[in-house]
Amino acid sequence: MTSTKLFDLTGNVAVITGGNGGIGRSIAIGLAQAGASVAIFGRNDAKNKATLSELKEIGVPAMALKIDITKRTELAPAIKKVEQELGSISILVNNAGIAVLSGGILNETEEEWDGLIEVQLNAVFLLSKLVAKSMVENKRGKIINIGSMYSFFGSSFAPSYSTAKGAVIQLTKSMAIELAPYNIQVNAIAPGWFVTDMTAAVQTMPLNDEIIMRTPAGRWGKPEELVGAAVFLASKASDFVTGETIRVDGGYAIR
Ligand code: NDP
Repeated sequence: MTSTKLFDLTGNVAVITGGNGGIGRSIAIGLAQAGASVAIFGRNDAKNKATLSELKEIGVPAMALKIDITKRTELAPAIKKVEQELGSISILVNNAGIAVLSGGILNETEEEWDGLIEVQLNAVFLLSKLVAKSMVENKRGKIINIGSMYSFFGSSFAPSYSTAKGAVIQLTKSMAIELAPYNIQVNAIAPGWFVTDMTAAVQTMPLNDEIIMRTPAGRWGKPEELVGAAVFLASKASDFVTGETIRVDGGYAIR
């Protein structure tokens, strides 16, 4: 196989949660450009439609599902719909997320905690479980979970966020062990600081200067800079890589 073919995703069907904006949109477009059929999951209809038309322009089969992934009973029908329209899912990117900047456990409410854990952790488990069933039958699959720098560090500022992101890495490793015999690789990407709607508030805080000072690259990342890692982990190029977390952070975590 030639080295370019190693990254060719033709014949794959990818689901990207939160694929209508920020990091998820860039990954959805990147996987489509590599040849995959793509389904994006998101709550906002206008954002879904805008990204869907970008995907269709690339020329791959694509669909957008209006779904709140914290509504557990809606997950299985959504997966079924993708499989009926696009075929068996071979790539799942668990990307959708929210942030709760509560300032610490003394301030954070039970509702905030539960809401964050539901989207950032429980949905990762539930969707992976649903999709893994057909991946096991097909004896191939790629699950890519989006972690964070807070997968490695604690945060007094966003305790539920760092808890969920830490757990996502452990879940990645556990699923990787369980699913490896079925030729399913489960990996994670840990982005540093990326310019998206989620981080818009941070970009105007004093924390912005600290981030730039600490990041050896001296700047924030652009969502499209995550595409390389995502295509690698979705492709044959990573068939012997599993349980791994790839940092894409301009060096933030090395000091
Ligand atoms: P955005 O806020 O730009 O995008 C979040 C996405 O998640 C949107 O597409 C949103 O869709 C979707 N989403 C949120 N909640 C739900 C839900 N309940 N059901 C369905 N979709 C949902 O954030 P980012 O692109 O920055 O974040 C993407 C991922 O990357 C998150 O997991 C985040 O934690 C992680 N991350 C981000 C970093 C950064 O610096 N930006 C750094 C490290 C990790 P909709 O608007 O339609 O609800």
